[in-house]
Amino acid sequence: MRTQVAIIGAGPSGLLLGQLLHNHGIANIILERQTGDYVLGRVRAGVIEQVTMDLLDEAGVGSRMHADGLVHAGVQICVDGERHRISFKEMTGKTVMVYGQTEITKDLMDGRAAVGAPTVYTAQEVALHDIFGSQPRVTYRAEGQAHEIECDFIAGCDGFHGVSRKSVPPAAIATHERVYPLGWLGILSDTPPVSEELIYVRHPLGFALCSMRSPTRSRYYIQCSLAEDIESWPDDRFWEELKPRLDDEARERLVTGPSIEKSIAPLRSFVAEPMRFGRLFLAGDAAHIVPPTGAKGLNLAASDVQYLSRALIEHYREKSDAGIDHYSERALARVWKAERFSWWMTMLLHKITDNSFDQKIQLAELDYLFRSKAGATAFAENYVGLPY
Ligand SMILES: Cc1cc2nc3c(=O)[nH]c(=O)nc-3n(C[C@H](O)[C@H](O)[C@H](O)COP(=O)(O)OP(=O)(O)OC[C@H]3O[C@@H](n4cnc5c(N)ncnc54)[C@H](O)[C@@H]3O)c2cc1C
Repeated sequence: MRTQVAIIGAGPSGLLLGQLLHNHGIANIILERQTGDYVLGRVRAGVIEQVTMDLLDEAGVGSRMHADGLVHAGVQICVDGERHRISFKEMTGKTVMVYGQTEITKDLMDGRAAVGAPTVYTAQEVALHDIFGSQPRVTYRAEGQAHEIECDFIAGCDGFHGVSRKSVPPAAIATHERVYPLGWLGILSDTPPVSEELIYVRHPLGFALCSMRSPTRSRYYIQCSLAEDIESWPDDRFWEELKPRLDDEARERLVTGPSIEKSIAPLRSFVAEPMRFGRLFLAGDAAHIVPPTGAKGLNLAASDVQYLSRALIEHYREKSDAGIDHYSERALARVWKAERFSWWMTMLLHKITDNSFDQKIQLAELDYLFRSKAGATAFAENYVGLPY
């Protein structure tokens, strides 16, 4: 087989890139290790920046998001039982959208199916070859047969555990990492959300987040140790751990119910540099991970795809490699700012140490955030997403 761009991974970054390239007449094939149903079943991100919404619109898959998504003009932060609100609208004039990653993935998959662009699901033993040569190749196995794709470029959109980053010679790549000694235990339930806006909770018992996917579907998280076993968390235990972390009003309004999904996610900050190696580009979680506290993972994947799609369109349309040559530098400039914000929010709101100095610094920083217009504006600017 031959194509212009071989895309590894059918998560949000691979699917979005594929759609944008297809819309500009650039042939691409997506290779995905899992089945489509498995990819759709993964419950992950839910807060979308304006720039991500714009990109989904540009890809032609934004209509359901506008119909069903919830526009949020602010966020609430509860500190030891007292709630404060930061208005994005007032501070930046912008808003965010609550719309689940599973829904975005579905919209992108439907969009791809509608235009007939090829995706190979359950592709096994995907391997990248000659990434520094002029004619890279990707080999894989499907339905017991060996296949090979010749292409001009490879987009590694295969997440943190994917094969693309691992295909780069170690001497060509630098990695920067911080692993936090905690995770998020998350529950999805068909119960009405406790609040119309997200509530981030800082509490001596540990962090919590009250989020949602729709007016009837809630997503709650509590900070947990990395050693926790999901099997030892029946739903009742989760709700009993969440309740004391909330303020009185939220506790009264909380509707509990059976979970429809429950998982533990470790918190990690990670960046691989550069994001281009010859004819291989990394995008999304393949290149960087953020702790979910700042809701940046999916949005960063979208911003990488914006830079990469523009660069490839410029290459094919205008015969210019300027965008390709600057892809890594441009993407990383935005990545590092989102890494900083996600790290900062994580350190601000979680119980990471028992050191009373660290805890007093958290409280001082939160007090500054609530009292200073400059502090609140900086928070809001980063939360709604920095410009591309
Ligand atoms: C448990 C969890 C919870 C999260 N919660 C949030 C959140 O609340 N807010 C937020 O902003 N972000 C969150 N994130 C991060 C967000 O979901 C990711 O940033 C986003 O999915 C990145 O998209 P991606 O397409 O780059 O990678 P992925 O979504 O990881 O997609 C990569 C795809 O590549 C495929 N793949 C992997 N290896 C291969 C291979 N060898 N061959 C072929 N295909 C392969 C995978 O199966 C997958 O489908 C969460 C992530 C996790 C894991």
